[in-house]
Amino acid sequence: MKRAEIIAVGSELLLGEIVNTNASYISEQLSKYGVSVLYHQVVGDNAERMRETFEMARRRSDLVIVTGGLGPTADDVTKTVLSDLLERPIVRDEEAFHTIQQFLRSRNREMNEGDARQADVLAGADVLQNPVGLAPGMWIEGETTWMLLPGVPREMRALVDVTFPKKFSGATLVSESLRFYEIGESALDDAVKDLLNGSNPTVAPYAETGEARLRISARAINETVARAMIQEMKAEILSRVGSYYFGSDDETIASYLVQSLTRHHQTLAIAESLTGGEVQSMITSTPGASAVFLGGVVTYSDELKNRYLGVALDTIEQHSVVSKEVAYEMVDGLADQTNADYALSFTGEAGPTSSSGRPVGTVYIGVKTPRGIEVIERMYPHQERNVIRMRAAKDGLWALIQ
Ligand code: ATP
Ligand code: MG
Repeated sequence: MKRAEIIAVGSELLLGEIVNTNASYISEQLSKYGVSVLYHQVVGDNAERMRETFEMARRRSDLVIVTGGLGPTADDVTKTVLSDLLERPIVRDEEAFHTIQQFLRSRNREMNEGDARQADVLAGADVLQNPVGLAPGMWIEGETTWMLLPGVPREMRALVDVTFPKKFSGATLVSESLRFYEIGESALDDAVKDLLNGSNPTVAPYAETGEARLRISARAINETVARAMIQEMKAEILSRVGSYYFGSDDETIASYLVQSLTRHHQTLAIAESLTGGEVQSMITSTPGASAVFLGGVVTYSDELKNRYLGVALDTIEQHSVVSKEVAYEMVDGLADQTNADYALSFTGEAGPTSSSGRPVGTVYIGVKTPRGIEVIERMYPHQERNVIRMRAAKDGLWALIQ
């Protein structure tokens, strides 16, 4: 249930003779089940205004709870108004009728028309038998779900207390994990700080190598409603930090890239030193990679960088194998060999001790796009070997998404 609304019926409420404690009780109970109440309305015992009130509620709410006006007197018109609005006939509920009959008999009273009318319900309603009074409540499922409750607080509470756990406890919990790259964990937290205190849906942050995640969890009466709640929250989050988002749940930067290249009918090739095939593995573990991925090489030694990619041994000697120049020549050579629209190259010092003369954590990524070649320099200080390799792999793929 995304949006709930409570309508209290009774002219005494409008006159200020009684306080609308029913709405307050129902709101409080709904919040325990994670249902947000967005509106309270109060309307007198007047059919026309009640219909207008109901129509407004139906337009904007998923669950409408009405209290009052289910009694035996002529001013109790809640059921007839709703019956007209929903075009559902009124039928007599046998069980409720029997309860009323028993009650009157025990008091030696004749049943009159008003008494009997309390056993009337809307056709197709789930009838909520009243354990402490005569008029039953109703639960009417539909595009908008309606719940009708007696006005007498004790009866209203009794029905709420038995019905809510049944209707909401079987609630489905659905979650979606939004995945972000490049935005730091704390920057992400800052951007969505005000959303982290909600109770339904909940939004919780967590981090993993270079990535940040926000997990949205929604509890609702069914999966469709929970998904809708998640979508709404997701839209809000993406309106703030959408440029860092690459996918949800099992989607990866690699799968995002493969999808986007597939859509644009473009091809990809990868040359790896530092990452030793990791990047190509990330790409090829994505279903559908063959549509875009031409292939690549793992050239770990200087000699193979020279032989397969045409990297000049002079360049390596002059600038070190971990250098902008080598990354450039690697990606340039690969693009020449493959004619790929997009290409990446990776060279870096993963440590734990430097063999290239460059500080551990230094990485160069060659990025070839139809616009030309660019070399990205990265420094991941104080990181473990495999963290450096993974960060470099993801940074390279991310560079092509931007
Ligand atoms: P009844 O069978 O008693 O006629 P009903 O479902 O028709 O029940 P109402 O006639 O609207 O309900 O209200 C019955 C009594 O319950 C009211 O006189 C009032 O004291 C109390 N009541 C009704 N609505 C509310 C409310 N929203 N908050 C607090 N008390 C209420
Ligand atoms: Mg009444």
